[in-house]
Amino acid sequence: MKLIERLNETTLSLSFEVFPPKTDSAFETVHPAVCEIARLKPSFMSVTYGAGGGTSKYTLDIAAEILRDYGVPSLAHLTCVSSTRETVHKQIEAIHRAGIRNVMALRGDIPEGRLSEDRADWDYRYAVDLIRELKESPYDFCIGGACYPEVHPESPNQKEDIQRLKEKVEAGCEFLTTQMFFDNNLLYNFLYKIREAGITVPVIPGVMPITNAKQVERAVKLSGSFMPQRFRALVDKFGSDPAAMCQAGIAYATDQIIDLYANGLTNVHVYSMNKPEVARKIQANLSDIIGK
Ligand code: FAD
Repeated sequence: MKLIERLNETTLSLSFEVFPPKTDSAFETVHPAVCEIARLKPSFMSVTYGAGGGTSKYTLDIAAEILRDYGVPSLAHLTCVSSTRETVHKQIEAIHRAGIRNVMALRGDIPEGRLSEDRADWDYRYAVDLIRELKESPYDFCIGGACYPEVHPESPNQKEDIQRLKEKVEAGCEFLTTQMFFDNNLLYNFLYKIREAGITVPVIPGVMPITNAKQVERAVKLSGSFMPQRFRALVDKFGSDPAAMCQAGIAYATDQIIDLYANGLTNVHVYSMNKPEVARKIQANLSDIIGK
C-alpha cells in the first residue's frame, strides 16, 4: 500500500521508526524489538538506512518482514550521498523485489573527512538527485523526503532551505517527515512558511521521546534542536533517575502529540528507536484519541 493513501485521514494515527542492526550479532536483539513494535499495528513503520549502505540488507529484510508478517505498511529509507549509482540502482531494484512500495529518499550525512571536498564528480550530491532517479525508475514508488523545521544545519538560511525543499517536492516527493523538534511552535511556524512557499504535500511531524539524559546531548548534537525551558527543567529534575526520566520523557512526547493533533496534524511519526516499551506507552497514553 502506498502511504500517501493514508495521509489524508482526519483522525490521529501514529507511525514508528526502527533502525537496523549494525552487525549480524546485533540482529538477535533488534529483531524481537522490531516485531514487538509491529504488533502494536501502527499506521506504518519506517526503517532507517545506514549512510553508505553498510546495513542495507537489514533495512530491506526488516521492512519486508513488517509488511509480510504483520500487515503493517513499511517505509524503507534510502540514502545516496556516499554511494555509487550502481549500488543505489541495485538497492532500488531490491526494494521493489521485496514488495516495498514506499521509499524515504535521503541524501545522508556527508562523512566528516569529505565535507570540504569538491562534490562535482560525486554520483549524488543531494536527495533531489535520488528522488529524480526513483521517479524515472520503472517502479511506481510513493516517495517521501526529510524536512527541517529548525533549518538543515548546512543550509545558509531558512528561505534557501525551503526553496531546496520545494525542489524535492517538484521532483516527485509526495510527503515530508520532519526532523525531531521539542517546541511545537517551531513546527507551526515552519508549516506556515512552507505553505506560503507553495509546498502543499502532507507533512508528518517527527516526535522523539527522550527517555534518558544522555539522549538529550545526542539529540541536540544530531539535530541542533532547540530545547525549551520546560523541557530542560524536566531533564534537570529527573535526568539522574532513569525510571522517572523515562516516564517524564514519554509524558512530554505525549503532550506534544496531543497538541499537534489539536492543531490539525493527524499523522505523527514517533522516533521510537527500537524501544517497544516506549512505543507501547505512548500508544496507551493516547488510546482514547487515536483513530477518533
Ligand atoms: P537534502 O534534501 O539533499 O538537503 C541537504 C542540504 O543540502 C540542506 O541544507 C539543503 O538545503 C541543501 N540542498 C538540497 N538541495 C540542494 C541543491 N540542489 N543545491 C544546494 N543545496 C541543496 N540519515 C541516514 O543516514 N539514514 C536514514 O535513514 C535517515 N533518515 C532520516 C529521516 C528523517 C525524517 C530525517 C529528518 C533525517 C534522516 N536522516 C537519515 C538524516 C539525513 O540523511 C541528514 O539530515 C542529511 O544531512 C540530509 O539529508 P536530506 O535528505 O534532508 O538532504
